[in-house]
Amino acid sequence: MIVDVPVPGVDRVFHYAIPEELAGRVQVGRLVSVPFGGRRVDGYVVGFAPRPAGEKVRPILSVRDDGPYFDTEALGLARWMARRYMALEADALRCLAPPGAVGGRVGPRRLKAYRLAVAAEDARRLVEELAPRAPRQAAVLAELLKAVDAGNGDGAALSARDLAQRAGASSSSLKALAERGVIAATTVRIQRRPTPVAAETSPPPTLTVEQSRALEIIAAERRSARPKPVLLHGVTGSGKTEVYLRAIADTLAQGRGAIVLVPEIALTPQTFARFASRFGPRVAVLHSRLGTGERFDEWGKIASGQAPIVVGARSAVFAPVPRLGLVIVDEEHETSYKQDESPRYNGRDVAVERARRAGALCILGSATPSMESYVRARRGEYRLARLTKRVDDRPLPPIEIVDMRREMLAGNRTIFSRRLQEELARCLAQRRQALLFLNRRGFAQFLLCRECGLVVRCDECAVAYTFHAEPAPHLRCHYCNELRAVPERCPQCSGPYLRPFGAGTQRVETLVKSMFPEARVQRVDLDTTARKDAHVRFYEAVRRGEVDVIVGTQMVAKGLDFPNVTLVGVVAADSTLHLPDFRAAERTFQLLTQVAGRAGRGLHPGRVIVQTYAPEHYSVTAARDYDEDGSYRRETGFRRGGGYAPFGELVRILISTEDNSPEAPQAVAEAVRLCAGRTADVYVKGPAPAPVHRLRGRWRWHVLIQGQGDAPRQVAAAARDMWAQALKGRGVSVVIDVDPVSML
Ligand code: ADP
Ligand code: ZN
Repeated sequence: MIVDVPVPGVDRVFHYAIPEELAGRVQVGRLVSVPFGGRRVDGYVVGFAPRPAGEKVRPILSVRDDGPYFDTEALGLARWMARRYMALEADALRCLAPPGAVGGRVGPRRLKAYRLAVAAEDARRLVEELAPRAPRQAAVLAELLKAVDAGNGDGAALSARDLAQRAGASSSSLKALAERGVIAATTVRIQRRPTPVAAETSPPPTLTVEQSRALEIIAAERRSARPKPVLLHGVTGSGKTEVYLRAIADTLAQGRGAIVLVPEIALTPQTFARFASRFGPRVAVLHSRLGTGERFDEWGKIASGQAPIVVGARSAVFAPVPRLGLVIVDEEHETSYKQDESPRYNGRDVAVERARRAGALCILGSATPSMESYVRARRGEYRLARLTKRVDDRPLPPIEIVDMRREMLAGNRTIFSRRLQEELARCLAQRRQALLFLNRRGFAQFLLCRECGLVVRCDECAVAYTFHAEPAPHLRCHYCNELRAVPERCPQCSGPYLRPFGAGTQRVETLVKSMFPEARVQRVDLDTTARKDAHVRFYEAVRRGEVDVIVGTQMVAKGLDFPNVTLVGVVAADSTLHLPDFRAAERTFQLLTQVAGRAGRGLHPGRVIVQTYAPEHYSVTAARDYDEDGSYRRETGFRRGGGYAPFGELVRILISTEDNSPEAPQAVAEAVRLCAGRTADVYVKGPAPAPVHRLRGRWRWHVLIQGQGDAPRQVAAAARDMWAQALKGRGVSVVIDVDPVSML
């Protein structure tokens, strides 16, 4: 038994006795309730053992009646994950349980319902009898008879609400019938369904030559006993999704199921629509925007085999698909596959491992594969399938770079270069759609005092407040979300000249509206998409042509397929380039390539304008030239030299403290150095203040461990016990992040 108590001290298997009355129901994968310390906690059954001699075992108190939640194969995956990411087994196992089940937050949803309590013939007679004087009651019986006739059997039940509505009857009619014993109260389980998306029904297209070739590679790999992952490296608009759809159809034909992971929440409605239009109700969807109850029900549909195809975000990699045959990771390079709480897993890497354990095929798709996957494909660990052309030989849009330093010199001080303004005007005149991309929400990046130079910062986080113009001007910290009124005078010098600097999406929106008053502008960022179905509505509005200019953050940079978008403008390409992260250049290249890929996907050719202050940086020029191999070559040299992934492993230890004293971080670093001393080729860096040194009122430091294979993790594991002793009771929290995607 693993108890659901997330504390390192209890991260081991505990033994419990099985009371006689629960004997048949305790199975691997069941959630049970057990006494622990003085409390009652949830626990996962992970195996059986003879009563250990000498150890006092207490009995299991109860067994939850749904489940089991996992089998031994899934258990193996969770344990692999706990080791790989240095997480607690309890945290890993929670990933396998249905959403909300642990802690008993949700269960199946049941509604009050009625069924016939008399035989069908008797009910039919009653309908006629009742019709003249109690027509509503007659209608109720007629509806229940319809349900029986529809093949749902004599016990067919309808929810009270549904029944009353269909029969046009009130609850008093239902009560009257129930009192006479003609109908009986019961309950029905209902599915909490996610918002359905209008399916686009179109017949499957004829495959392109490259698509067929990719499918041949996939089919060959599938036939092998131990299939290798296939890296599907296809330029934007090359039809990767069609390849996925065909591969899934083949998987279904073999009686097996498939999981499709998509990165951004923004992708889900569109992706889901594509899969639903091909496979209908056999597709389940899992992502964090659904309510817990909805996810719980989708999980049930998957486990029962009703929905053999799952489309979802990161955590869908754990979906309980029976007879799994295929795992697809779309846009496999995306950082959103990494979970930023324990277990800090990367969904892509878990997908590869899960497929391997299930003997299933894994397809990693991307226009801009991660360095990790690119290198593995080169080494032959993965099979490579390439799609080098867009479907129908549509051209990739030319990318034009605008040097913003020159704009400044030429006297243009707006955030739009003259070229972008020209092209925007042309695009709108032609009645096409444009997408303007800026990776910063809010109106302005910061508020600056023009007299003393002070930037107004969040006290808790030591980062500049972002200036928001909507609904009324205010400041908001994008790290802790704290909100503040805009000060009238500078907090430092009391001067009156506080001004917003650096554009955000609200500013871009405002500017487009003032330059093109007729244009219908839709902003898409965290602030406009908070509502549950905002993404679906945005997607449909663009498709219907109700939007002329989309202004968005990275939510719109990737994956979306809007055929009428012909112009893409990148307002500031530099926003990711100078982040203190070894992946900064790789990410900039990927982001530019991806956002460029939104242009010219339909009949009309596209065009991309990239504004930047660093026009000669290789990640910018390589994106312009579509020179992927060149970009990878540069990047490979840099990564190999620095010992960065995939040429080495990095473990980041993040220490957060209540005061700004470096004592605790130094104690951690000391423990790590001591343990590393015995291991060759392990490098320890730090402690150094983290780039975001203060967050939510705490001070943050990090220690980095680099090396080959398991070595950095082993060092961290050994050091963990040591620093735990040293830091006891000092209000210090230490987080271990294996293969981090954020270094902030
Ligand atoms: P990617 O995911 O590679 O960026 P998509 O899968 O979105 O590309 O495909 C781009 C567009 O081409 C979509 O509108 C898709 O329906 C269409 N498409 C895909 N394959 C074909 C094909 N074989 N023939 C015609 N159109 C296709
Ligand atoms: Zn803050």
